[in-house]
Amino acid sequence: MSRDSSSAEGRTDPFVGPLDSSRTPRFAGPATFARLPRRDEVPRADVVVAGVPFDTGVSYRPGARFGPSHVRESSRLLRPYHPALDASPFRLAQVVDGGDLAVNPFDIGAALETVQAGAAELTADGARLLTVGGDHTIALPLLRAAAERHGPVALVHFDAHLDTWDTYFGAEYTHGTPFRRAVEEGVLDTEALCHVGTRGPLYGKKDLEDDRRFGFGILTSADVFHQGVAEVVQRIRERVGGRPLYVSVDIDVLDPAHAPGTGTPEAGGMTSRELLEILRGLRGLDLVGADVVEVSPPYDHAELTGIAASHVAYDLVTLLALRRRTDLLDKEGPHA
Ligand code: MN
Ligand code: MN
Repeated sequence: MSRDSSSAEGRTDPFVGPLDSSRTPRFAGPATFARLPRRDEVPRADVVVAGVPFDTGVSYRPGARFGPSHVRESSRLLRPYHPALDASPFRLAQVVDGGDLAVNPFDIGAALETVQAGAAELTADGARLLTVGGDHTIALPLLRAAAERHGPVALVHFDAHLDTWDTYFGAEYTHGTPFRRAVEEGVLDTEALCHVGTRGPLYGKKDLEDDRRFGFGILTSADVFHQGVAEVVQRIRERVGGRPLYVSVDIDVLDPAHAPGTGTPEAGGMTSRELLEILRGLRGLDLVGADVVEVSPPYDHAELTGIAASHVAYDLVTLLALRRRTDLLDKEGPHA
């Protein structure tokens, strides 16, 4: 099967791209992310898309363990040029599908260790990682791995929920607690933390007071509506500055009309257009890693959630490839 990079525009790129859809129809062949090569099919990787099929940390609807395969299946229609960012991400760097991390479905502690070790291994040579979940519990070990490499990181967290709760049924590690644990562990830069898209009822006002004490700023779903994308982007960029940045996207940040297939849906969410436009506004920031989590295929319809998540992942991959390209040019000169 031939791939895009070796056939287009009469030149040979150094990077292996997706399957050539003029030769292999998009609905044929294995469903790697965006039909990219697997990690073991290429000698190097600059940006890795990896799945974490784990949903043992959920508090309501299960099913996110099937998220990675669903997002891959929904990514078949992604094309190699990103017009809004004027970039061909798969020609800027070697982007690969790193497969799934094999996590323990019965032992959350063991699963978190596997995710942290897996993320460290996949990024050991400087590659940048986009992880597809899985429930939001996995953000904690991903942030630990990012901080090991870059020091405490700035966080832009897209979610209907704060995910800074303390415990649930006595459990410390759930999909509602990763960012509280991350602050306690010192893996986040508390000068540069921001939730975007929050909404819906809370247990009490103390939830917000705790969250503010940890250092989070909040741009609610209503703020996105009233202030608009440009203002929201500006406020995020001011808060993050030049710090190493991790972006975590809980797909429930989107309105259930845009992403019904998720574990804890809340009315009044952002549109997929707003989310994608905000992500595009983050171009040029030092994005070191990202995740897209909480896609639960059993509750999805017509791949709505899978398609939304695959496009969010594509935008994040493009930002990571642009950023990684800058690293490669700095290190190896213009022919890298
Ligand atoms: Mn959520
Ligand atoms: Mn979440």
